[in-house]
Amino acid sequence: MLFAAEPLAPTIESARRVLKKYYGYDSFRPMQEDIIQNILSGQDTVVLMPTGGGKSVCFQVPAVVQEGVCVVVSPLIALMKDQVEALKANGISAAYINSSVGQSEQNNIAADCLNGYLKLLYVSPEKLLSEGFLNLLRRMRISMFAIDEAHCISSWGHDFRPEYTQLRVLREQFPQIPIIALTATADRLTQRDIQQQLRLTEPRVFLSSFDRPNLNLIVRPGQDRVGGILEFLERHQGESGIIYCLSRKQCETLAQKIQAKGIKAGFYHAGMTPNQRAAVQEGFLKDDLQVIVATIAFGMGIDKSNVRWVIHYNLPKNIEGYYQEIGRAGRDGSPATAVLFYSFGDVMSLRDMLTKENPNLTQLNLTKLERMQQFAEAASCRRKILLNYFGETLAQDCGNCDICRNPPTTFDGTELAQKALSAVVRSRERVSISLLIDVLRGMRNQAVLSGGLDQIKTYGAGRDLPYLDWYSYVHQMLNDGLVYIAYEEGYALKITDIGREVLQGQRTVPMKKFQPAEKAEKAPRGRKAAAAAAKAPPVTREAQLFEALRTLRKRIADEQGVPPYVIFTDSTLQEMAVERPVNRVAMLGISGVGMKKFETYGEAFIREVLAHGGNPAAQAELDEDGLPDHLDPDDFSSARTVRKKPVKEAKEPKATTSEVNGTAETTHQLHRMGLSVEAIAQRRDLAISTVQTHLTTCYAKGLELRIEEFLKPEDLAEIQTAQAQLGSSPMLRDLFDHLREKYDYFKLRLALMYFKKLRGE
Ligand code: ADP
Ligand code: ZN
Repeated sequence: MLFAAEPLAPTIESARRVLKKYYGYDSFRPMQEDIIQNILSGQDTVVLMPTGGGKSVCFQVPAVVQEGVCVVVSPLIALMKDQVEALKANGISAAYINSSVGQSEQNNIAADCLNGYLKLLYVSPEKLLSEGFLNLLRRMRISMFAIDEAHCISSWGHDFRPEYTQLRVLREQFPQIPIIALTATADRLTQRDIQQQLRLTEPRVFLSSFDRPNLNLIVRPGQDRVGGILEFLERHQGESGIIYCLSRKQCETLAQKIQAKGIKAGFYHAGMTPNQRAAVQEGFLKDDLQVIVATIAFGMGIDKSNVRWVIHYNLPKNIEGYYQEIGRAGRDGSPATAVLFYSFGDVMSLRDMLTKENPNLTQLNLTKLERMQQFAEAASCRRKILLNYFGETLAQDCGNCDICRNPPTTFDGTELAQKALSAVVRSRERVSISLLIDVLRGMRNQAVLSGGLDQIKTYGAGRDLPYLDWYSYVHQMLNDGLVYIAYEEGYALKITDIGREVLQGQRTVPMKKFQPAEKAEKAPRGRKAAAAAAKAPPVTREAQLFEALRTLRKRIADEQGVPPYVIFTDSTLQEMAVERPVNRVAMLGISGVGMKKFETYGEAFIREVLAHGGNPAAQAELDEDGLPDHLDPDDFSSARTVRKKPVKEAKEPKATTSEVNGTAETTHQLHRMGLSVEAIAQRRDLAISTVQTHLTTCYAKGLELRIEEFLKPEDLAEIQTAQAQLGSSPMLRDLFDHLREKYDYFKLRLALMYFKKLRGE
């Protein structure tokens, strides 16, 4: 075989081929490529990337293209198992050794290492440091050491693992072998510890942005959380998610309420036995449980990529924890949602807790809590605040948080503030926030009556406004420094000097109008309609097929005893539902379908697509039985160039993402992550028309769009009819007029392109 051999020194091109062949992805994410270049050059590498950023590919792909075994140090047994399963499902030979693996199995694995069969060996730090294992390492050919979750080395971090500090042994005993350290923690102390303790020699450090643009950030007032959650679940049927609570009791009761709605939910907290916990985790991984209600103990070290949402029932203690927890949603890059319920009561109980918890750290912890509170109460782009906290600046507002989606309107709140301040003074500065609101709204409850508060002049002066509105305005007054809370006096509100000036009419108070939750959380873009009709969401063909594919995935996963996302991620299934691939080339063109997965699952999924009508454009081209020929690996290269749409387009190779001009590509990526055109324009500081042009350009070049965001099926039908009336290729202008300006040019252009693609042109 003259041409089959890989070049001696692996190149980025061979890495790219491996990415397509084994993972089914067309291109590296920007930083992955640089990292892999660096690793292939034999240098030490440090990778700091947020959860879901795609760290695994960074060492797995080089491991495949290089000679020898890549030894991966990983702290958690569950994580190792998951990663090895995922690798095997992609056709890459990998194994793990830890305390759960029996001796004879270990011997087999050792043999596989020595004969060069294995590409990756995962090992726990304890095992790695044992003399027996070091001996094995000395006898085998090692391509590199990858230290996963490398922040465990730092005693500053929350996941400190003492064994990790022994890992310098690797550099001492194997000075020639490059080391790559990976973590999702970015702070400087941790970074320094990693480099020093691993004895890395002038490593290149890759710090990727910690932004996760596909996460839609939402904060809602803490009233009626249970109602809010049940409503949310109705709008997110079938989607996996995690709800974080503070207490065990809360976990259990909330899980019961969710179960009562017929949703498969489980709870998870530290009071359960290890077996019970493992069973719940397993149920979640396997999609047997849709929802987990958990204390923060849940989620660490699970790799489930199709978690679609995370809800915080309570305010987290700090932004680090919050960010880590919401980071568990949307790891596959598809749109995901993070909802935080916020009430001032949570701040109070957390303050109490932190004050008691660790006296040495009280001040630090309270400051962190304050930053968290500021985030929750913010009236400006939330992502900016988050990234700021991690030392990053976002030039533009993000367009994908509740504030950006529904910017609050301001009004002159002086009179409102005066009413509240007057009530504070007249009740002799003894009332808490909730009692103040009760007084303003003229409530006749025990606390009001027993304090004689129904007798003061401002009693009932604010009865025209609902509780939540007042709640928001009093918080704004707090943030603006008109009042403060005397924590030591039962959280009584006190007026400040500024507050007095307002009361005396010497100062005006601009306020942000309160927006009720339903409005604030209105679903973005094309999902609006779906959200409005939450009770009976319209079932599109795509949604139907997606459901069917999910069911199939679940069935196969159960048969094989692996989590469903190991078979295909949600985004891969989504793409299948849109593209409806019915032959080999088309199926291999789907992102996430590599060779091995095609061989194993391709036929089953093609059958499912066919059962749903298949892709009409591709039907004509099918083999007689409608199924793929026996796979011939040499054919594979054609699938690489023929991205997406099968059949006729095969004549003219389609562009891969990297071939489309860079800036349009960025727009396209954000679009695929679920951002609306407006959000992308805002975020990138571009005109809406520019973003639209980017999208049509990408669409024309063969990249996929979420058409449903712009055009509903009935829109498409209407445009198609108009087109038929005007002849097959009407001028846009005529179409625009004919439809009485109902659709803008962007939509019309898209629709025409869509029809063209359907016809296979
Ligand atoms: P991390 O380890 O940083 O949390 P993962 O390695 O689990 O992230 O990757 C997150 C998701 O992104 C996975 O589903 C992975 O398959 C996917 N992914 C990684 N690299 C790419 C790529 N180049 N193109 C498309 N998807 C990718
Ligand atoms: Zn924003």
